[in-house]
Amino acid sequence: MRRIGVVGAGTMGRGVTQLFATSGHEVVLVDVSKPALDAARDSIRSAARLAVLVRPGSAPPPAEEVLGRVTFTTDLALLGDVEFVVENVTERWEVKQPLYAQLDAVCPAETLFGVNTSAMPITRVAGATHRPGRVIGTHFMNPAHLKPTVEVIRGHRTSQETVDRTLALLEQAGRKHVLVGDSPGFVTNRVLMITINEAIALVHEGISSPTDVDRLFKECFAHAMGPLETADLIGLDTVLLSLEVLHGEFGELKYVPNPLLRRMVEAGRCGRKTNQGFYPYGSGNHDHE
Ligand code: NAD
Repeated sequence: MRRIGVVGAGTMGRGVTQLFATSGHEVVLVDVSKPALDAARDSIRSAARLAVLVRPGSAPPPAEEVLGRVTFTTDLALLGDVEFVVENVTERWEVKQPLYAQLDAVCPAETLFGVNTSAMPITRVAGATHRPGRVIGTHFMNPAHLKPTVEVIRGHRTSQETVDRTLALLEQAGRKHVLVGDSPGFVTNRVLMITINEAIALVHEGISSPTDVDRLFKECFAHAMGPLETADLIGLDTVLLSLEVLHGEFGELKYVPNPLLRRMVEAGRCGRKTNQGFYPYGSGNHDHE
C-alpha cells in the first residue's frame, strides 16, 4: 500500500501521519480545522528535524522530504484514491458516525478503514459503513511515530484479508502488533483508563499528590511514566470521553469519571495539548524522544 488517508490532525493523527510519511507512504491528512492542520504541519516538521538530530544512525529522511509526502487538506474528497484510512477524530459517536458515512461514500469499496479509537467497539463503527468486513481497529499508542507496537482489534465482521493487509501495512511502517478481540477499550484501555481514574481519585481525596502517585509507579514498578503523566500525554479530554464510552458500554460504576477529571477538562486543563494538566508544560514540542 502506497497511499494512506489520515482523518483527524490532532494528537494522534499527526503522529500517525508522521509514521507513514517517514516510512515512505504518500499521506493525505484531513481535518475540519485549518488551525489543527497548521499545528500538525509544525509538529511533523519539528519531530522530523529532531529525529535527524537524535537518531542520525537510523538515517531518518529530512523533514522537507517527510512533509513533501503529506497533503494537508480540509477536503475529504481527496481520499478518493487512498488504499487505507486511519481515522483519528474526536472520541464521540456523534462525530465518528457521520464521518464514516462520508468516508464510505468517498473512498473506493476496496479501501480499508482503520479505527483509531480509545474505547469504541470496532463492530459498532463497522456497522456505520457498508463495508464492515473492511473495518479494523488500529489502536496506535501516543506518540504514534515513536511507539513500536499497535493494538490491532478484529471486529466481529472484520475479514481475514483485512487483518492480513493491515498487519502487512504496519510491518511496512516498521511496527509490531498485538491482535485482540473486540471489547470496549480493548485490552489496553480497559486496564489503563480505570487505573488513571483511580489515580485521579487518590489526588481528589487528598491521599497523595500527582508527583507522588507517579513516583510510586515509576520507582516501585519501573514504569516509564506514572498514570497521571500518561493521562496528561493522552489528553484529559480524551481520557474523560474514553471513560464515558466505557461506562456507557458496560454500565458499571467503576468507569464513572472522577469529578476532578471533569473539573480539569471544564477548566481547559487537558494536559500537554493545553500546556497544563496535572503538571505544567512549556509551549514547545511535547513529543517524547
Ligand atoms: P484530538 O482532540 O487531539 O484531535 C481530534 C481531531 O479530530 C481534531 O483536530 C478535530 O478538529 C478533528 N475532527 C473532529 N471531527 C472531524 C471530522 N468530522 N473530520 C475531520 N477531522 C475531525 O484527539 P486525539 O487525542 O488525537 O484522539 C483522536 C482519536 O484517537 C480518538 O478517538 C481517541 O480516543 C483516539 N486515541 C487517542 C489516543 C491519545 O493518546 N490521545 C491514543 C489512541 C487513540
